[in-house]
Amino acid sequence: MRALAFSLSLFGLLTFSTVARAHPRPRPSGPPELLFTFDDGPAVGKTPKILDALQAHHIHAVFFVNGRHLLGNKKVADESRALLREEIARGNAVGNHTIHHYFLCGHAYSKLAPEEIEGNAALIQQATGMRPDLFRTPYGSHCRSIKALLASLGIHPIGWDIDPQDWRLRNPAKIEAYVESHLRHLQGRNILLMHDIQGATVVALPRILDWIDQENAARIKSGRVPIKIIDYSYLLPRHELVPPLLDARGRVLIRAAARAADGPIWLWPQVAWLMGQV
Ligand SMILES: [Zn+2]
Repeated sequence: MRALAFSLSLFGLLTFSTVARAHPRPRPSGPPELLFTFDDGPAVGKTPKILDALQAHHIHAVFFVNGRHLLGNKKVADESRALLREEIARGNAVGNHTIHHYFLCGHAYSKLAPEEIEGNAALIQQATGMRPDLFRTPYGSHCRSIKALLASLGIHPIGWDIDPQDWRLRNPAKIEAYVESHLRHLQGRNILLMHDIQGATVVALPRILDWIDQENAARIKSGRVPIKIIDYSYLLPRHELVPPLLDARGRVLIRAAARAADGPIWLWPQVAWLMGQV
């Protein structure tokens, strides 16, 4: 068990160092903002408690889910699919975190990456009726092959800034202390990574949310900028609107723009004739 734990932590070190080399993130600056993200679920019995805690504080998070929980016709798979619908119904976003959480930059699993990503998107769509816009690689792994694959799929992976490693600590007090130590000096827009499959996180989250309320009350009282809890909307692909154009008769032609991220904005001419408008 200890050997397994050691190899897992060594694996973690290797993967995290891979991330650090490949994607050095600039230190965020500006007013403190925080986005909550929860990975590896859904977990029947735990995720609902996370959802309740978030809702009690009017927070919308991102859940990066693994489709392995949704496979098959067993009761737990049904309940997991219902949990995804519940996450969305409460204003959260469901993101893609692959089916089996393999290390996709590893030699053995890199060939499975397309099915792990697209298959999970299909499982999420079957459960929720919506294809996920957001994606996070398991272990945050990045390498040439996964980068090329994600680019071909038009996917921009979402990383994180604050990682209490709740899966390793498994102690609510330590998780809470780690997160709060970072929030005390928070600058700019930060993404917090936790796991809704961890029992310790279920206990720690309400305490962290209460602490943020108290911290913000103290900040407002002393004239400091409070920590703003943000939702996932800023992570979504941008859709730019194009100013309406007039046709020869002076009617307004509404046109939709393709995603700005796809390069030059190519317009899809159509959509509606609005008689009488100028
Ligand atoms: Zn994960």
